[in-house]
Amino acid sequence: MKRVIVKCPGTVANLVCGFDVLGLALQEPADILELQLIDEPVVRITNRDAYNLPTEPEKNVAGVVLLSIMQHCNNAFGFEVAIEKRIKPGSGIGSSAASAAGAAVAANYLLNNQFTKEELVQFAMNGEKLASGVKHADNIAPGIYGGVTLIRSIYPLDIISIDAPSLFVTVVHPQIEVRTSDARQILKQQVQLKDAIRQWGNVAGLVAGFMKGDYELIGRSLEDVIIEPVRSILIPGFDAVKKDCIDAGALGGGISGSGPSIFMLSKDAVTANKVAAVMQNVYQQIGIDHHVYVTAINKSGVTVVEEG
Ligand code: ADP
Repeated sequence: MKRVIVKCPGTVANLVCGFDVLGLALQEPADILELQLIDEPVVRITNRDAYNLPTEPEKNVAGVVLLSIMQHCNNAFGFEVAIEKRIKPGSGIGSSAASAAGAAVAANYLLNNQFTKEELVQFAMNGEKLASGVKHADNIAPGIYGGVTLIRSIYPLDIISIDAPSLFVTVVHPQIEVRTSDARQILKQQVQLKDAIRQWGNVAGLVAGFMKGDYELIGRSLEDVIIEPVRSILIPGFDAVKKDCIDAGALGGGISGSGPSIFMLSKDAVTANKVAAVMQNVYQQIGIDHHVYVTAINKSGVTVVEEG
C-alpha cells in the first residue's frame, strides 16, 4: 500500500491589512501528517498528539478534505491518516489549514499528482468550512503554494503567488483561546468609505512592497483600520506588543489570522530575536503563558518528507 509523510506548515492569514485575501507560510511550527491509500472507501484517523481532536472523519478537517477527494473519485479507495499536531488548534497560525492543506497535498501525491494546486485548494477549503464555518483560503493557499499568496477571489478561485524578499517572522502565541467563529462574529458588517480607501491603499502598498523588496513600504503598509481595532480587544497585551516590537526594530505586524497569536516581520534575524524577547517580556509582565517562534517565510508550503 502506498504511504507518504508530509510536513504541513503553519500560516499567517490576513497580513494585517489583507483580511481574507493575503497570507504567508511559516517555516515553523509545522504538523506532521502520514497518509496511506487503502482499498476500502473509508477514512480512518489516528491522533499522534495530546490535542484530542475528533477522529470521526466528518468532524476532523483532514477527514473532510479526504472524503471530498474520495467523492470526486467515485469512492474508489479510502485513506488511513495519522496526525501529529504541533500547531495548537485555535492558535491563529492555521492549525486547521495545516491539516487541510497537508491532507490534500498528501492525497494528491498518492494519486500520482493528478490535481492542480488550485484544485487542491478547492478540496482543502471544505476542511476550513468545518473549522470556521466559512470557505476561506488565506491559510490554505500559502500552505499549498508556499510563500506569500493573494486570494483575489474565492468565487471563482483566483490565487496569485507574490514574490517577497527575505523576511524573518516572529510569532507569539499567548495561551488563551480565541475561536475563529467568535472572532468573525464581532466584526462590523459595514465599513466607512474613508477606512476602505485607507485599507486598499495599504493592501496595494504591501503587495508592491513585497514585489519590489521595499522594506520601508512593507512596514508602512502593515496597517489595519478595519479589523484590528475590533479584534485586538480580544487579545490582552496587543497594543503593548505592537508598540514595543516596532520600537525594537520590527517592520510591523499585527494579529495572526483571527488571533490570539501576534506576528511581526523583521528584515534580519538579530531584530527578529530582539522582537521575540520584547514579546516574552510583555506576556511575562501580564502573567500569561506564551510560546514564541522565531522563523522565516516558507517558500515551499506542504512538503513530502518520506514516502514508501
Ligand atoms: P486555527 O486558526 O488554529 O486553525 P481554528 O479555530 O480555525 O484555529 O480551527 C480549530 C478548530 O478546528 C478547533 O475547533 C478544532 O477542534 C477543529 N479541528 C478539527 N479538525 C482539526 C484538525 N485536523 N486540525 C486542527 N483543528 C481541527
